[in-house]
Amino acid sequence: MKKALELYLHIPFCIRKCEYCDFLSGPADERNRRTYLDALLRELAAVGPQAEDYEVTSVYIGGGTPSLLPGEWMEKLMAGVREGYCLAKDAEISMEANPGTLTKENLAGYRRAGINRLSLGCQSTDDAELKLLGRIHTWAQFQESFRMAREAGFINLNVDLMSGLPGQHLASWEESLETIARMEPEHISAYSLIIEEGTPFAEKTLELPDEEEERQMYERTGEILQSYGYQQYEISNYAKPGKECQHNLGYWTRREYLGFGVGSASLFQNQRFTNLRDRSAYAAFDGKVESIRRDLETLTVREQMEETMILGLRLIRGVSRSEFQKNFGVSVGEIYGPMLEKYSRMGLLQIKGDRIALTRAGISVSNPIMADFLLDE
Ligand code: SF4
Repeated sequence: MKKALELYLHIPFCIRKCEYCDFLSGPADERNRRTYLDALLRELAAVGPQAEDYEVTSVYIGGGTPSLLPGEWMEKLMAGVREGYCLAKDAEISMEANPGTLTKENLAGYRRAGINRLSLGCQSTDDAELKLLGRIHTWAQFQESFRMAREAGFINLNVDLMSGLPGQHLASWEESLETIARMEPEHISAYSLIIEEGTPFAEKTLELPDEEEERQMYERTGEILQSYGYQQYEISNYAKPGKECQHNLGYWTRREYLGFGVGSASLFQNQRFTNLRDRSAYAAFDGKVESIRRDLETLTVREQMEETMILGLRLIRGVSRSEFQKNFGVSVGEIYGPMLEKYSRMGLLQIKGDRIALTRAGISVSNPIMADFLLDE
C-alpha cells in the first residue's frame, strides 16, 4: 500500500502587503507570475519520481493570494500535480482566496482544476478594522466573494478571522464571529494577531487588547462557535462535524509533506528542508532539486518525539499513547512521565484512555507547556 503524502504549493503574489504580514509574498507583474508558475511546474515534475511510493491525500495551494491566478493557470498547475503524482480520488484540494480578487470565470476554472475547498481570508466584518489591517477588501466584497464561491459550487469553505486587533474590543470580535457563523461556512479559523518583526505594525504604537481581553476573546470564540454547531478541533480551528481540514490535520500528526515554490517547507522521509526564499533565484530553477533545497536536516528520534508531542497537543483530541508506543517502541510515560504528572496535577493536561490532551485551562497557556516537551540532548 502506498504511503500518504500531502503537497503544499506556494503562490507568493499579493496585490499589496497587509500591515501585519510577514509571509513570503508581494506584488508581481504578469510576466513574473508566469515565470514563477513555470518554475513551479518544473519543480513538480522534478520531484515526482521521489514520491512514486506515495499517494497524495491532500493538496493545499497557499500564499500570498493564489486567487490572483486565472482559472486556466490553476488548471495547468493541477495538471502538473496529476501528471507527476498519484492523487487520491477523494483528495482534499484547498486553495486560499482573498475577497476582492475572485471572479465568476476564475471560480469556474478553479472548480475545473479540481479544487474542492476554498479558504477565504476575511479577518473581520468591520470595515474600519479591515482598513487598519491594510486588507485590500471591504466587508461587502467578502460577502460577494462568499456568495460567488457558493454559486460556483464550492460546498467546503473556510473563513479566516483574526482577533486581538488594534482598537478591537470583545463586542466587535463577537460581532465578527456571529456574523460569519450565521453564513455557515464549513470551517472557521480564528487566529489572534501576532505582531511580527519587520512588518509595518511592528514600527507603530498600537493600542492592542490586554491579556485579559485576549483571554475573554478566546473563551467567547469557543462558546459562540459551539452554539452555531462548530467543534473546536485545534487551538485556533473550528469545523462543522466531518469538515476538519485534512491537510492541516496531517501537519499536526506529522504526515509527510512536500512543499513546492519559494520558501516552502517539507517533511519527507524523516528529513525537514526548506526551499530558497529568493523569488528570482527560484524562477531560474534548473530542474535539479538539490539546487533549491536549503537547511536539510535529518530528524533524530528525540526530535521526532518532541514534534509528536508539540504538534499533537495542538489538537483538542491530543496525542495517541498507542501510536507513540508503535512509532518509537517506548511508552510516552517512559519519556515524558514527570512532565505529564506535573501538568495533570496542575489541571492543565489530562490523560483519558489512549489520549493525552491539554485541558481548556492548558490551552490558554499552551506555549510554555509545549516548550517543556523539548527533551535534553
Ligand atoms: S493577503 Fe495574506 S499573504 Fe498577502 S499580504 Fe495580506 S496577509 Fe500577507
